[in-house]
Amino acid sequence: MEKLPLAEQMAQFEQRCRALALRMTPQRLEIFRLLAGEAGHPTAEQLHQRLLAQMPTLSLDTVYRTLATLVTHGLVRRVVTAESQARFEVALSEHHHLICRRCHKIVDCCWPQLDSAALPLPADWGRLDCCTLTGYGLCRACQQAETPAVAPPEALKPP
Ligand SMILES: [Zn+2]
Ligand SMILES: [Zn+2]
Repeated sequence: MEKLPLAEQMAQFEQRCRALALRMTPQRLEIFRLLAGEAGHPTAEQLHQRLLAQMPTLSLDTVYRTLATLVTHGLVRRVVTAESQARFEVALSEHHHLICRRCHKIVDCCWPQLDSAALPLPADWGRLDCCTLTGYGLCRACQQAETPAVAPPEALKPP
């Protein structure tokens, strides 16, 4: 899935903070910037490790609290996985996730057909705000690691 350029994501972040009257503290800004520039879906601990280089006094607790604030305001999303550790991403686009059950890599994926489908909601359900799908399986690298390479049949071997 294509991500918006970092500058554009930061501009949207600034705009939304202003609209929400949320102060752009250095911690909020740096955590969002790191998530926006990141292809993966890091944990709070991973974010903390990466931020220590620029903010040596930053505590893990501050990272947790900052993430919680950003999640509450809909700027960052907590990705629901089967793992106990929460994973985070910027909440600028709706998309689905594929999770490798071996290496726990999370990949974004788009499914416009699903997004525009009428979901068979129970009659007594109220309003649906969002619907995301999580697919579990093996990523290509893990699949190759699990399956021993098969030798090509004799006929296909170069002479
Ligand atoms: Zn994998
Ligand atoms: Zn994602």
